[in-house]
Amino acid sequence: MQLIIREIIAKSILTKSGIPGADYCINPYIGCFHGCRYCYATFMKKYTNHEELWGSFVDVKMNAPEILRRQLKRAVKGTIIISSVTDAYQPVEGRYKLTRRCLEELLSYQFPVGILTKSPLVLRDMDIIKKFRDIEVGITITTNDERIRKIFEPKAPPVEARIQTLKRLHENGIRTYVFIGPVLPMNPEALCGKIKPYVDYVFIDRMNYVSKTVNIYNQLKLQKWLERNFVDEVKRRLRRGFDKKKVTFCNK
Ligand code: SF4
Repeated sequence: MQLIIREIIAKSILTKSGIPGADYCINPYIGCFHGCRYCYATFMKKYTNHEELWGSFVDVKMNAPEILRRQLKRAVKGTIIISSVTDAYQPVEGRYKLTRRCLEELLSYQFPVGILTKSPLVLRDMDIIKKFRDIEVGITITTNDERIRKIFEPKAPPVEARIQTLKRLHENGIRTYVFIGPVLPMNPEALCGKIKPYVDYVFIDRMNYVSKTVNIYNQLKLQKWLERNFVDEVKRRLRRGFDKKKVTFCNK
Protein backbone atom coordinates (compact mmCIF):
# COMPACT_ATOMS: atom_id res chain seq x y z
CA MET A 1 0.00 0.00 0.00
CA GLN A 2 1.37 3.40 -0.95
CA LEU A 3 1.59 5.79 2.01
CA ILE A 4 0.76 9.43 1.38
CA ILE A 5 1.98 12.23 3.66
CA ARG A 6 0.71 15.77 3.12
CA GLU A 7 1.88 18.79 5.05
CA ILE A 8 -1.06 21.09 5.70
CA ILE A 9 -1.85 24.31 7.55
CA ALA A 10 -4.66 23.87 10.09
CA LYS A 11 -7.11 26.56 11.19
CA SER A 12 -7.62 25.13 14.66
CA ILE A 13 -5.99 22.49 16.84
CA LEU A 14 -7.67 22.81 20.25
CA THR A 15 -11.23 21.66 19.55
CA LYS A 16 -14.20 21.19 21.86
CA SER A 17 -14.73 17.56 22.78
CA GLY A 18 -17.92 15.55 23.18
CA ILE A 19 -16.04 12.75 24.93
CA PRO A 20 -17.17 12.31 28.55
CA GLY A 21 -14.58 13.76 30.90
CA ALA A 22 -12.78 15.75 28.22
CA ASP A 23 -13.32 19.42 27.40
CA TYR A 24 -10.96 19.57 24.45
CA CYS A 25 -9.12 17.29 22.10
CA ILE A 26 -5.94 17.77 20.11
CA ASN A 27 -5.27 15.78 16.94
CA PRO A 28 -1.97 16.84 15.36
CA TYR A 29 -2.60 14.55 12.37
CA ILE A 30 -5.52 13.61 10.13
CA GLY A 31 -5.44 9.90 9.36
CA CYS A 32 -3.38 7.17 10.97
CA PHE A 33 -0.75 4.86 9.55
CA HIS A 34 -1.59 2.26 12.18
CA GLY A 35 -4.62 1.51 10.01
CA CYS A 36 -6.46 -0.72 12.48
CA ARG A 37 -9.19 -2.77 10.81
CA TYR A 38 -11.86 -1.67 13.26
CA CYS A 39 -10.88 2.01 13.47
CA TYR A 40 -13.89 4.16 14.43
CA ALA A 41 -12.13 7.29 13.18
CA THR A 42 -12.66 6.46 9.51
CA PHE A 43 -15.73 8.73 9.66
CA MET A 44 -13.25 11.59 9.49
CA LYS A 45 -12.97 11.01 5.74
CA LYS A 46 -16.46 12.48 5.35
CA TYR A 47 -15.21 15.82 6.66
CA THR A 48 -11.77 15.88 5.07
CA ASN A 49 -12.70 14.60 1.57
CA HIS A 50 -9.98 11.98 1.49
CA GLU A 51 -10.62 9.30 -1.10
CA GLU A 52 -7.67 7.15 -0.11
CA LEU A 53 -8.09 4.10 2.11
CA TRP A 54 -7.94 4.77 5.84
CA GLY A 55 -4.43 3.86 6.95
CA SER A 56 -2.82 4.97 3.70
CA PHE A 57 -2.71 8.73 4.28
CA VAL A 58 -1.70 11.18 6.96
CA ASP A 59 -2.10 14.94 6.85
CA VAL A 60 0.44 16.67 9.07
CA LYS A 61 -0.80 19.87 10.71
CA MET A 62 2.47 21.71 10.39
CA ASN A 63 1.38 24.77 12.39
CA ALA A 64 -0.20 22.78 15.26
CA PRO A 65 2.11 24.08 18.06
CA GLU A 66 1.88 27.71 16.94
CA ILE A 67 -1.89 27.66 16.57
CA LEU A 68 -2.22 25.87 19.93
CA ARG A 69 -0.19 28.62 21.60
CA ARG A 70 -2.62 31.21 20.25
CA GLN A 71 -5.72 29.23 21.21
CA LEU A 72 -4.50 28.49 24.74
CA LYS A 73 -4.27 32.19 25.51
CA ARG A 74 -8.06 32.47 25.12
CA ALA A 75 -9.14 29.01 26.31
CA VAL A 76 -10.98 28.32 29.56
CA LYS A 77 -9.03 25.75 31.55
CA GLY A 78 -10.25 22.21 30.92
CA THR A 79 -9.15 18.63 30.37
CA ILE A 80 -7.48 17.85 27.04
CA ILE A 81 -7.39 14.49 25.30
CA ILE A 82 -4.49 13.75 22.96
CA SER A 83 -5.73 12.30 20.66
CA SER A 84 -9.28 11.28 19.70
CA VAL A 85 -9.30 10.50 15.95
CA THR A 86 -5.67 9.65 15.24
CA ASP A 87 -2.72 8.22 17.15
CA ALA A 88 -0.55 11.16 18.16
CA TYR A 89 2.44 8.80 18.44
CA GLN A 90 2.04 7.01 15.13
CA PRO A 91 5.28 6.64 13.12
CA VAL A 92 5.22 10.10 11.47
CA GLU A 93 5.44 11.69 14.93
CA GLY A 94 9.02 10.40 15.09
CA ARG A 95 9.85 12.74 12.22
CA TYR A 96 7.55 15.74 12.80
CA LYS A 97 7.48 15.87 16.63
CA LEU A 98 4.19 17.80 16.57
CA THR A 99 2.79 16.03 19.62
CA ARG A 100 5.95 16.77 21.56
CA ARG A 101 5.84 20.43 20.58
CA CYS A 102 2.15 20.64 21.52
CA LEU A 103 2.97 19.19 24.95
CA GLU A 104 5.67 21.85 25.33
CA GLU A 105 3.04 24.51 24.68
CA LEU A 106 0.61 22.93 27.13
CA LEU A 107 3.19 22.74 29.89
CA SER A 108 3.10 26.44 30.71
CA TYR A 109 -0.72 26.36 31.01
CA GLN A 110 -0.91 23.11 33.02
CA PHE A 111 -4.31 22.08 31.67
CA PRO A 112 -5.06 18.49 32.76
CA VAL A 113 -3.94 16.21 29.92
CA GLY A 114 -4.81 12.66 28.92
CA ILE A 115 -2.78 10.92 26.24
CA LEU A 116 -4.05 7.77 24.54
CA THR A 117 -1.79 5.81 22.21
CA LYS A 118 -0.71 2.37 21.08
CA SER A 119 2.91 3.38 20.63
CA PRO A 120 6.08 3.18 22.75
CA LEU A 121 7.11 6.44 21.06
CA VAL A 122 5.27 8.19 23.92
CA LEU A 123 8.28 7.28 26.10
CA ARG A 124 10.40 9.70 24.08
CA ASP A 125 8.45 12.53 25.74
CA MET A 126 8.78 11.25 29.30
CA ASP A 127 10.86 14.31 30.22
CA ILE A 128 7.95 16.64 29.39
CA ILE A 129 5.20 14.33 30.65
CA LYS A 130 6.84 14.20 34.09
CA LYS A 131 6.64 17.98 34.37
CA PHE A 132 2.81 18.08 34.21
CA ARG A 133 0.98 18.33 37.51
CA ASP A 134 -2.10 16.50 36.17
CA ILE A 135 -1.50 14.03 33.38
CA GLU A 136 -2.29 10.43 32.59
CA VAL A 137 -1.27 8.16 29.77
CA GLY A 138 -3.51 5.44 28.40
CA ILE A 139 -2.21 2.57 26.32
CA THR A 140 -4.67 0.75 24.09
CA ILE A 141 -4.31 -3.03 24.37
CA THR A 142 -7.08 -5.00 22.72
CA THR A 143 -5.84 -8.56 23.16
CA ASN A 144 -2.98 -10.51 24.70
CA ASP A 145 -2.70 -12.64 21.57
CA GLU A 146 -0.13 -11.40 19.08
CA ARG A 147 -1.78 -13.41 16.27
CA ILE A 148 -5.06 -11.57 16.85
CA ARG A 149 -3.23 -8.25 17.09
CA LYS A 150 -1.64 -8.87 13.70
CA ILE A 151 -5.05 -9.51 12.14
CA PHE A 152 -6.80 -6.42 13.51
CA GLU A 153 -3.91 -4.00 14.03
CA PRO A 154 -1.30 -5.13 11.53
CA LYS A 155 0.72 -1.90 11.54
CA ALA A 156 0.45 -1.00 15.21
CA PRO A 157 3.15 -1.94 17.76
CA PRO A 158 3.17 -5.48 19.23
CA VAL A 159 1.28 -6.21 22.44
CA GLU A 160 4.44 -6.82 24.46
CA ALA A 161 5.89 -3.45 23.40
CA ARG A 162 2.74 -1.75 24.71
CA ILE A 163 2.95 -3.61 28.02
CA GLN A 164 6.59 -2.58 28.39
CA THR A 165 5.58 1.02 27.65
CA LEU A 166 2.99 0.85 30.38
CA LYS A 167 5.59 -0.54 32.77
CA ARG A 168 8.06 2.27 32.04
CA LEU A 169 5.37 4.92 32.50
CA HIS A 170 4.30 3.38 35.79
CA GLU A 171 7.90 3.12 37.00
CA ASN A 172 8.30 6.82 36.28
CA GLY A 173 5.35 7.70 38.46
CA ILE A 174 2.94 8.51 35.63
CA ARG A 175 -0.76 7.73 36.20
CA THR A 176 -1.67 5.07 33.64
CA TYR A 177 -4.68 3.25 32.33
CA VAL A 178 -5.29 0.61 29.70
CA PHE A 179 -8.01 1.05 27.15
CA ILE A 180 -9.21 -2.43 26.21
CA GLY A 181 -11.22 -1.39 23.23
CA PRO A 182 -12.42 -2.96 21.16
CA VAL A 183 -12.41 -6.22 23.07
CA LEU A 184 -10.77 -8.70 20.69
CA PRO A 185 -10.42 -12.45 21.14
CA MET A 186 -8.02 -12.99 24.04
CA ASN A 187 -7.13 -14.86 27.17
CA PRO A 188 -8.55 -12.34 29.68
CA GLU A 189 -6.79 -13.79 32.72
CA ALA A 190 -3.43 -13.67 30.96
CA LEU A 191 -4.00 -10.06 29.90
CA CYS A 192 -5.07 -9.01 33.40
CA GLY A 193 -2.02 -10.67 34.91
CA LYS A 194 0.33 -8.80 32.59
CA ILE A 195 -1.08 -5.31 32.90
CA LYS A 196 -2.49 -5.25 36.43
CA PRO A 197 0.80 -4.26 38.13
CA TYR A 198 1.18 -1.19 35.93
CA VAL A 199 -2.30 0.34 35.69
CA ASP A 200 -4.33 2.61 37.92
CA TYR A 201 -7.54 1.71 36.12
CA VAL A 202 -8.92 0.21 32.92
CA PHE A 203 -11.53 1.16 30.34
CA ILE A 204 -13.25 -1.53 28.33
CA ASP A 205 -15.22 -0.94 25.15
CA ARG A 206 -16.76 -3.09 22.48
CA MET A 207 -16.18 -2.69 18.77
CA ASN A 208 -17.87 0.27 17.13
CA TYR A 209 -20.04 -1.76 14.79
CA VAL A 210 -21.69 1.20 13.12
CA SER A 211 -18.34 2.26 11.73
CA LYS A 212 -18.12 2.23 7.93
CA THR A 213 -14.57 0.96 8.13
CA VAL A 214 -13.27 -0.34 4.83
CA ASN A 215 -12.33 -3.78 5.98
CA ILE A 216 -11.18 -7.08 4.58
CA TYR A 217 -13.91 -8.66 6.71
CA ASN A 218 -17.66 -8.71 6.29
CA GLN A 219 -18.59 -6.31 9.13
CA LEU A 220 -21.94 -7.90 9.84
CA LYS A 221 -20.56 -11.38 10.16
CA LEU A 222 -17.72 -10.13 12.31
CA GLN A 223 -20.16 -8.35 14.62
CA LYS A 224 -22.36 -11.38 15.13
CA TRP A 225 -19.44 -13.69 15.55
CA LEU A 226 -17.80 -11.50 18.17
CA GLU A 227 -20.96 -10.83 20.16
CA ARG A 228 -22.03 -14.44 20.30
CA ASN A 229 -18.68 -16.01 20.99
CA PHE A 230 -16.44 -13.58 22.77
CA VAL A 231 -17.50 -10.20 24.09
CA ASP A 232 -19.85 -11.13 26.93
CA GLU A 233 -17.66 -13.94 28.19
CA VAL A 234 -14.50 -11.85 27.96
CA LYS A 235 -16.11 -8.96 29.87
CA ARG A 236 -17.14 -11.31 32.70
CA ARG A 237 -13.65 -12.70 32.96
CA LEU A 238 -12.03 -9.26 32.84
CA ARG A 239 -14.21 -8.07 35.70
CA ARG A 240 -13.13 -11.08 37.74
CA GLY A 241 -9.48 -10.72 36.77
CA PHE A 242 -9.18 -7.09 37.86
CA ASP A 243 -10.63 -7.93 41.25
CA LYS A 244 -10.92 -4.67 43.26
CA LYS A 245 -9.67 -2.29 40.53
CA LYS A 246 -12.23 0.03 39.02
CA VAL A 247 -13.45 -1.36 35.69
CA THR A 248 -15.75 0.75 33.52
CA PHE A 249 -17.57 -0.72 30.55
CA CYS A 250 -18.27 2.11 28.08
CA ASN A 251 -21.09 0.13 26.47
CA LYS A 252 -23.13 -2.26 28.50
S1 SF4 B 1 -4.33 3.63 16.26
FE1 SF4 B 1 -6.36 4.44 16.74
S2 SF4 B 1 -6.68 6.10 15.27
FE2 SF4 B 1 -4.98 4.86 14.51
S3 SF4 B 1 -5.95 3.42 13.08
FE3 SF4 B 1 -5.79 2.42 15.08
S4 SF4 B 1 -7.76 2.82 16.08
FE4 SF4 B 1 -7.57 4.27 14.37
